[in-house]
Amino acid sequence: MYSIGIDIGGMSAKIGLISHDNVVLEEIIPTDSNLDYELFIGHITDVIKDICSHNKVDKIGISSCGLINSKLGAIVYSNNIKWDNKNIVGDIQNRTNLPVKIANDAKCAALAEAVFGIGKEYKRMCMITLGTGVGGAFIINKKLESGNAYGDADGILGHISVENGGRQCTCGRRGCLEAYSSATAIMQSYKERTGQQITAKEIFDNVRINDPSAVATMEEFQYYLGEGLVSLVNVLRPEVIAIGGGVAKSSDLFLDYLNSHVNSQTYGGIALPVKIVSAKLGNTAGMIGATLL
Ligand SMILES: [Zn+2]
Repeated sequence: MYSIGIDIGGMSAKIGLISHDNVVLEEIIPTDSNLDYELFIGHITDVIKDICSHNKVDKIGISSCGLINSKLGAIVYSNNIKWDNKNIVGDIQNRTNLPVKIANDAKCAALAEAVFGIGKEYKRMCMITLGTGVGGAFIINKKLESGNAYGDADGILGHISVENGGRQCTCGRRGCLEAYSSATAIMQSYKERTGQQITAKEIFDNVRINDPSAVATMEEFQYYLGEGLVSLVNVLRPEVIAIGGGVAKSSDLFLDYLNSHVNSQTYGGIALPVKIVSAKLGNTAGMIGATLL
């Protein structure tokens, strides 16, 4: 028996046929901020029906960007796909006759890491995803709280304040972690120094060849990420923090700094050390985590 995991992001929706931590089959539908919701639902249910005609599927899980209400089964708000108050769980359930559940994408990825990935051996795990924005989640005993709109909206780790009155953030406030440590922020910071628009991956690659602007950009990024993680550890006390998202691919450059900074700055850090590591499951984590809801 299989489950279907759907991961809806600002660029694409991935639909996977999942068995435990294995993605047996994957299809991709492009998404963007102009995508009509009804068209998307029609398209995705066709893909689901096609998969179900060849495989035994018992449930569907949705991992979505934005603010989710798991009790209503709705995407309440998303700045990336511009669907407000869409009852996607009901809409897919009605068309497929399969049980459907939903949670925020960073939460689904964290759940998958906690159950199958880097958090397997731990009871208290945090995951922080560094991509276009900064997402995250805190998982205790490999479970996500469900059916509570307030619980659905916790773990907004990207908007911890790391510099009072600092850089403008997309949320409207200033000085959030996301404004310093997302891939977008890294690119912006490098552009301010050099006038060049290159990807975060290219900036980290330039660190490897000692480009001084790239090194300065990375030092700023890791300092603010470290400050954010210190606050996070003081409040939540995870045993392990997994760094996920595109930026994690270059994490060999900054994990040593983070481990030493965070453990030396956290209250009683030496007595209760936290391990900061790279996530394991890559970009299939959202789909896999959705099937665990
Ligand atoms: Zn913010």
